[in-house]
Amino acid sequence: MPHTLLLSFAHPDDESFLAGGTVCRYAAEGVRVVLSCATRGEAGKAGDPPLCTPAELPVVREHELREAAAILAIAAIHLLGYHDRALDAAPPDQIREQLVALIRRERPAVVLTFDPNGANLHPDHVAISRFTSDAVAAAADPRWFPALGAAHEVARLVWVAGRHPWDLARDPEAGAKPGVDFAIDVGRWWAQRLAALEAHRTQRPSVQRHFLRHADRDVLLSREFFRQAWGPPLAVRPAEDLFEGIGS
Ligand SMILES: [Zn+2]
Repeated sequence: MPHTLLLSFAHPDDESFLAGGTVCRYAAEGVRVVLSCATRGEAGKAGDPPLCTPAELPVVREHELREAAAILAIAAIHLLGYHDRALDAAPPDQIREQLVALIRRERPAVVLTFDPNGANLHPDHVAISRFTSDAVAAAADPRWFPALGAAHEVARLVWVAGRHPWDLARDPEAGAKPGVDFAIDVGRWWAQRLAALEAHRTQRPSVQRHFLRHADRDVLLSREFFRQAWGPPLAVRPAEDLFEGIGS
């Protein structure tokens, strides 16, 4: 049975900014990659100049997300339907039940989400990190939601590294820093990662600012960094495989 990797993020574009190359790598290796996205990003920017009205933005951003996911070979997208910039107000029991249902159905070996500080302290990022940790624990305990299927124990919970990915990619010493437990070489997939970022057309100003306008953009797009929340111990840090130490 090939492994499943579940990404649990807050907004359309989080997947492409933080893990696009990693998704390409594992999809190419036959891993089933599934994305849970808690909002449609409707409180974000619509582009400069705007590509749509604020009322159209959730539909446009969902469309952009589906286009990016197709480029990255994400097998399935689950939109949880919470309000952008208000995810921290989501009812904990409700989002726990949604995520437990997803985890028990998809049975991922590895779950990837934001670190507890949400990478950049964005309240939605902090919230989805918290909700995901909660759901991973609940999914493993059969007393929670017995109607949602057999309990499933995730082998490893992974966080995005707590520094900006463009800073880490430029830092030759990144792998020596605490909080960098996985350094994934995604150089083979940088063009796909770039195409996925560009699919988020309404977010082009921030894609430009962080990646495209820089002469070393191929360097910025060639490595991705993650932190082990918990899971099998790693022989060497940073490891090069999110599935290290996890049997088939
Ligand atoms: Zn985000």
